[in-house]
Amino acid sequence: MGFAKKEHEFLSAIGLAPENPGGFINGKWKASGPVISTVSPSNNQEIAKVTEVSMEEYEEGLRSCNDAAKTWKSLPAPKRGEIVRQIGDALREKLQHLGKLVSLEMGKILAEGIGEVQEVIDMCDFAVGLSRQLNGSIIPSERPDHMMFEVWNPLGIVGVITAFNFPCAVLGWNACIALVCGNCVVWKGAPTTPLVTIAVTKLIAEVLEKNNLPAAIFTAFCGGAEIGEAIAKDTRIPLVSFTGSSKVGAKVQQIVTERFGKCLLELSGNNALIVMDDADVGLAVRSIFFAAVGTAGQRCTTCRRLYLHESIYQNVLDKLVGLYNQVKIGDPLEEGTLVGPVHTKASRENFEKGISTIKSQGGKILTGGSVIESNGNFVQATIVEIASNASVVKEELFGPVLYVMKFKTLEEAIELNNSVPQGLSSSIFTSKPNTIFKWIGPHGSDCGIVNVNIPTNGAEIGGAFGGEKATGGGREAGSDSWKQYMRRSTCTINYGTELPLAQGINFG
Ligand code: NAD
Repeated sequence: MGFAKKEHEFLSAIGLAPENPGGFINGKWKASGPVISTVSPSNNQEIAKVTEVSMEEYEEGLRSCNDAAKTWKSLPAPKRGEIVRQIGDALREKLQHLGKLVSLEMGKILAEGIGEVQEVIDMCDFAVGLSRQLNGSIIPSERPDHMMFEVWNPLGIVGVITAFNFPCAVLGWNACIALVCGNCVVWKGAPTTPLVTIAVTKLIAEVLEKNNLPAAIFTAFCGGAEIGEAIAKDTRIPLVSFTGSSKVGAKVQQIVTERFGKCLLELSGNNALIVMDDADVGLAVRSIFFAAVGTAGQRCTTCRRLYLHESIYQNVLDKLVGLYNQVKIGDPLEEGTLVGPVHTKASRENFEKGISTIKSQGGKILTGGSVIESNGNFVQATIVEIASNASVVKEELFGPVLYVMKFKTLEEAIELNNSVPQGLSSSIFTSKPNTIFKWIGPHGSDCGIVNVNIPTNGAEIGGAFGGEKATGGGREAGSDSWKQYMRRSTCTINYGTELPLAQGINFG
């Protein structure tokens, strides 16, 4: 049997079929849970069927992964890096097909779909280098003939639960680092992007097989909240990395903390962009446009709040509305499309509900504000003028809706930036050095990502990615994020014949 649509035939080149078992368990594809249809957000038509895993299969997967952890952690870190290098090469070979799949199943435009897979490749490259730099430090001991140092050891298994909007990049941020750090990975992707989960897992599985390594080093499950909760509860998983909404993240954290596991949270954002009176307006307008409209407003780092200095307010707004009126919304796989659909019918309904709440709180729609009648989940890119204290401004509406507000002083703008529960990304447009340093300093933005003269979104993998407050406090990808995927052993060795005690204590 072939795919229902001829244009989906390319999926067979990345190992997908019209019907797919959604569990990669001890080297075998199997699943006996519910059968779901995965659909394209452009028309809500089926792409393929996927069978989700049952709890018995979850258990079998975890058991074999736990066994594989012994082999994987015994391999020297640079050898693990070599495996991750091969994974990067396997992804490179299929970049176009995988990018197209991301675009088809998630709904982001093709350039962004390919960009997302490229991000995983970049993470592989970063992790390969890192595999020779998991360095500990030597610490001066206060005792004679003693040596004190730190050794970094693998944790065992890292559980990775990911969101729909970055169906493979978030796996990459976590898995590339977790693997070189000596951990096995258990991945549960989003229930609405199972084909991406399966296709990426197939590539990783081929690399493990080619190297005669246990396949269970990488275990993957298609499924929903039940599988996610099982990962959160599982004491065999010392670290659970969760990416998703603050609401679900809070639940996951509670469960993981109760069993004294570690949690790495990447949750909701509500990101502001500030334009000062001395800003390069052209640069700001282009940045706002990409940050607010790109990915149909479905990035965690999407700009949702725009604070404009009163002196440039109308000028920026006029330019922005002009751009919004030209934006091409449509099939994300078609050349020239800038904005694809929102991900599901539920996302579209959420947009509609959001617009009616905005109106009930006095928000004035400057452009957009409606769903677009079609079989797909298309909505208009929307700009809303609203009072900065409206409660809706404090929430993350996961779609292309931008709130615009006015301010007079830098202090006021910073206060507004920091006035929401979330703390992921933020950006200021200015040409004044003193404004820049105030913004990045202790009295500035309270977010994890603090940008100047660039959009709130589009982070590079070299930096640590994540946010504060309701965004969860996690940091992933670059810098020293790897330390979260390892266990730190502080070692003190006495190479003398005396037993001096710390703090000069004389014990008898
Ligand atoms: P979601 O919270 O609905 O789901 C995320 C994942 O959690 C999915 O895999 C889902 O199946 C799983 N899940 C659901 N209930 C669960 C439970 N009780 N226990 C364990 N797992 C459970 O989020 P979403 O709608 O897929 O994604 C959008 C959200 O993700 C937005 O809030 C966005 O800001 C956030 N996000 C954050 C980042 C970041 O790095 N901060 C990145 C991407 C997305």
